[in-house]
Amino acid sequence: MFRPEKVFFERDALSYPLGEKLYRTFREKGVEIGFTGSHNRVTGIPGGSRREKFFRAKRTLVVGVRKSRKLETCRPSAHYQLPLATGCPGICEYCYLHTNLGRNPYIRIYVNQEEILLTALDHIKKRLPADTVFEGAATADPLPVEPYSGALARAIAFFAEQEHGSFRFVTKFTGVEPLLHLEHRGKTKFRFSLNSQQVIAAYEHATPRLEARLEAASRVAAAGYPLGFMIAPIIPDGDWREEYSDLLDRLKTFQGHPGLSFELITHRFTARAKQVIRELFPESGLPLDEEKRSFKWGQFGYGKYLYPKDLLEEIECFFREGIRERFPEAAIEYFV
Ligand code: SF4
Repeated sequence: MFRPEKVFFERDALSYPLGEKLYRTFREKGVEIGFTGSHNRVTGIPGGSRREKFFRAKRTLVVGVRKSRKLETCRPSAHYQLPLATGCPGICEYCYLHTNLGRNPYIRIYVNQEEILLTALDHIKKRLPADTVFEGAATADPLPVEPYSGALARAIAFFAEQEHGSFRFVTKFTGVEPLLHLEHRGKTKFRFSLNSQQVIAAYEHATPRLEARLEAASRVAAAGYPLGFMIAPIIPDGDWREEYSDLLDRLKTFQGHPGLSFELITHRFTARAKQVIRELFPESGLPLDEEKRSFKWGQFGYGKYLYPKDLLEEIECFFREGIRERFPEAAIEYFV
C-alpha cells in the first residue's frame, strides 16, 4: 500500500466529506501535512536537484478539487479520460508521466468525485445513442491511491448503472481486494500492464513484480470483470522473443476469459523524454539511441523516435501470431 510521507491539502478540499476525513486520518497517523493554493502548483517539496525533488514528490500525496468540467479525449483506448487521480507512486524509467506531468510528479486525488462522474454523465448524454468509453488511467495509475480516494469503487458502481457508458483502467499494482466484491455488471474493464521479466527488472521500480500482477489478475478474473492485458513498452532487446513468449505462456491460465483483450505498445521516446530520463536516471540502460530509430512527426508539433519499420513489422507479427495461437478468442485492440 502506498504510504505518503507528506500530504498537501487544498483548503477547498476540506469542505468535502472525503477531504475532511482524509485530513483527520493523516493527522491522527502523524503524517506531515501541508496546504496548497492549487493542486496544480504545489511548492515546498524538499530536495535540491530535480532528481531529489522527483523522488520526494513520488512519496507526496495532494488532495484537491478537480475544477475542470471538460474531459480530454483519449485515443486509442477510449473516448474520454476520466480523471480520478493524477500521477503514480511507481518509478518506471520509461514512464510517459515524466514529461506529461513535468515538474509536478506528485500524486493527486480529488475529493469531488460526484462532480467528476456527473461530468462523465454529461458526456455520455451528448453522444447518445452511441456508447461512450472512459479511461481512468490516462494520467495516473489510480489503484495505489484507492485506499485513500475510493474513486475506482465509486466509478465502478456508477458505470454499473450506465446503459451507454463504460469504464476501463489499467494498472501495474495489485491492491484489488476492495474492488472484487462490487456490483460491476461487466461495465468496467480491468487491465493489467505487463512486460517481460527482463524489462520489469531493469526499468520498473517501486511496482509489483510480474508474479504478483498475475495473481491479482486471477482474482479480478474470478470476480467476473472483463479483463485485458497491456504489454508496454515492448522493448525488443536481448532474448526478446524468448522473454515475451514466456510472458504469453504465463497468461495461458486466462485463456477463454470472456472479453479478454490485448493492447500492444512498442517503446518510443521524444527528445524531451530522453533529456528528462537522462536527468532522473543517469545510469539508465533504456535504449534511447536516435540512430537506431525512425523519426515520426506527431500531431502536436513534436516528433517521436520509433523502432524502424522492418523491426516494428517483425514485433507485430510475433505478437499477433503468439496471441492468436494461445488465445484464439482474444481481441488485439491495437498495436502501436
Ligand atoms: S506504473 Fe505506470 S504510471 Fe506508474 S510510473 Fe510506472 S509506467 Fe508510470
